Amino acid sequence: MQYDVIVIGSGPGGYICAIRCAQLGLKTAIIEKYKTLGGTCLNVGCIPSKALLDSSEHYYNAAHSFAEHGIKLENLKVDLAQMIARKSEVVSQVCKGVEFLMKKNKIDVYQGLGSFVDKNTVKVTKEGGDIEMITSQNIVIATGSKPSSLPGVTIDKKRIITSTEALQLNEIPKHLIVIGAGVIGAELGSVYARIGAKVSFVEYASAMIPTMDATMGKELQRTVKKLGANFYFSHKVKTVENTGEEVIVTAENPKGELVTFTGDYCLMSVGRRPYTDGLALENAGLAADQRGKIEVDEHTLQTKVPNIYAIGDVIRGAMLAHKAEEEGVFVAETIVGQKPHINYLLIPNVVYTWPEVAGVGYTEDELKAKGIAYKTGSFPFKALGRARASMDIDGTVKVLAHKETDEILGAHIIGPRAADMIAEAVVAMEYRASAEDVSRMSHAHPTYTEAFKEACLAATGNRALNA
Ligand code: FAD
Repeated sequence: MQYDVIVIGSGPGGYICAIRCAQLGLKTAIIEKYKTLGGTCLNVGCIPSKALLDSSEHYYNAAHSFAEHGIKLENLKVDLAQMIARKSEVVSQVCKGVEFLMKKNKIDVYQGLGSFVDKNTVKVTKEGGDIEMITSQNIVIATGSKPSSLPGVTIDKKRIITSTEALQLNEIPKHLIVIGAGVIGAELGSVYARIGAKVSFVEYASAMIPTMDATMGKELQRTVKKLGANFYFSHKVKTVENTGEEVIVTAENPKGELVTFTGDYCLMSVGRRPYTDGLALENAGLAADQRGKIEVDEHTLQTKVPNIYAIGDVIRGAMLAHKAEEEGVFVAETIVGQKPHINYLLIPNVVYTWPEVAGVGYTEDELKAKGIAYKTGSFPFKALGRARASMDIDGTVKVLAHKETDEILGAHIIGPRAADMIAEAVVAMEYRASAEDVSRMSHAHPTYTEAFKEACLAATGNRALNA
């Protein structure tokens, strides 16, 4: 079968790329080795983790804040099996949605492992071993990523687990040791802390979510601590051992002493590695770099073989679904000769804890390192009527604006619905708005978004009205 485009991998990068290719009139095929479409994000990433975050948040609120709202409950219990079943149902619905979109856009779906035969031919090896050869003018590699581990640590998927297993446990851990307090660790650690597990974060860096603005990490730690979690920062994990009933983690603390943690589960959330296993890149004249990534041209996302493109987690940059999607659209439009553009600085980062954390643009440390003169405006949610009404008073909005021009250079939010609120900052920054521009726009009252306006007022000239 001859195609204009073959996409290998059906995650948010791959399936969105395929849809955009089809919209542009290209004859398109997509190959997925798993039974369901949607990749990491829909099957074992964004969607199931958000489903469990929502369920556990409902339970936590029912247990801790409903009484204050005047709602009395008795015999409140967690039914973990039902929580997991609901999550699986949500996953199934969204995966079927992608299947529908493939049909709607007349994209041929091949189920099986895709591997290069040459730069235009891909072999699809199906589950039973049957093989099909398909050829195409253009091929897009969207094979994503897999959880990584630490040297010497074997993930047994029973007690030493990754995010994938953490999304389908059949018991609530008594003591969950989370190695890595980045986004995935913070989210899944929160889920289990909310439903009663003792959670200990063991982290090599000196703060949570170390890649985001430092203020966010500090504030997030304060709020996750309220769930009863413990933090061990600047700890270098040495060994992780499953003894059958227990997991024993040893780590070197900041004083150079060896400390031991004993729990019943250990979640390894130390990052993800690009995934190219089984692709036979060499047959197309390609190779992954030392870190497993596929190198691409910055301006076109072409690999060094011009008709082969790569997108999403398998290339450089943030491992985020919406980044992969932008790249999927970008490649489709590039193939038909358009000149699309991605502003990587304005791809937001989000953590779906509660309060949520979201950031876009430069962090304060990045501005300092670049020597850019900036000013800061902050506004706490506790000063907001909307936040008082919903009892979501933890958190703050921090806006970084250029000292002379007032252009917004970074926005960092920890608070209720930060993940949705950050969109306003992205729009403002895409249009290169100044903090004063946002300050002069009407924001509905009472809404959480007023906090962004107030932080912009604070950045414009210390003019916040409600603080
Ligand atoms: P993937 O989604 O990894 O998809 C790649 C697909 O390619 C897979 O289905 C794989 O089976 C298939 N494949 C691989 N090799 C082959 C082959 N040779 N032949 C055929 N098929 C192949 N990001 C966010 O933006 N927001 C979030 O809230 C969020 N939460 C997350 C929570 C967790 C627990 C995890 C693990 C990740 C989360 N992410 C989140 C990250 C997000 O899932 C990834 O950035 C995103 O899925 C990357 O998309 P992708 O298309 O590059 O690859």
